[in-house]
Amino acid sequence: MGSAKTALLLTTAYNFEERDVAYLCFKPVTDTREKRSVIRSRIGIERECKWIYHDTDLYEVVTRMHEEGGMVPEWMLVDEAQFLTPIQVDQLAKVVDDYGCNVMCFGLRTDFQTHLFEGSRRLFEIADSIEEVKSTCSCGRKTIVNARIDSLGRIVTEGEQVEIGGNDKYMSLCRKCWNTRRLDSMNKGQLPL
Ligand SMILES: [Zn+2]
Repeated sequence: MGSAKTALLLTTAYNFEERDVAYLCFKPVTDTREKRSVIRSRIGIERECKWIYHDTDLYEVVTRMHEEGGMVPEWMLVDEAQFLTPIQVDQLAKVVDDYGCNVMCFGLRTDFQTHLFEGSRRLFEIADSIEEVKSTCSCGRKTIVNARIDSLGRIVTEGEQVEIGGNDKYMSLCRKCWNTRRLDSMNKGQLPL
């Protein structure tokens, strides 16, 4: 999910390295089968990251760093930020305000049913700034929906918000194409052209 955003995070990390800027990467754990804590792009670039569990207190994590070594990263890059809990987003805001750390979160606005992720909702509510990473649907319009596609190419509109280990894939579509393909999927039960 959100591979363009992950690529952007990794590019940002690379730029920081070139300029000797201290940064750390973080990522909410969604798949516990994952052995290595890394953020990786499709083209094979990866960076180590710290896992964020559902009950991780991010303010506490930074406070501990501060107490142990006196060093707090200048930048924190968070991948898949839609999976943060609203409380964790508030903790990040406190890290910004109390420690002067810069936090950049990369993630999706909405789920496959077009509803805001709870982490994203909280970010929209309290982030200092929001930047939209635009992409284009095959019809030329701006993509809006992160559609879930099953193994037969049909649009899926029911199920858990986060499905781990399934065969479903995701595709960015504009609202119009999503609606057309969704109705086609419902009517024909097969891949719409
Ligand atoms: Zn379209």
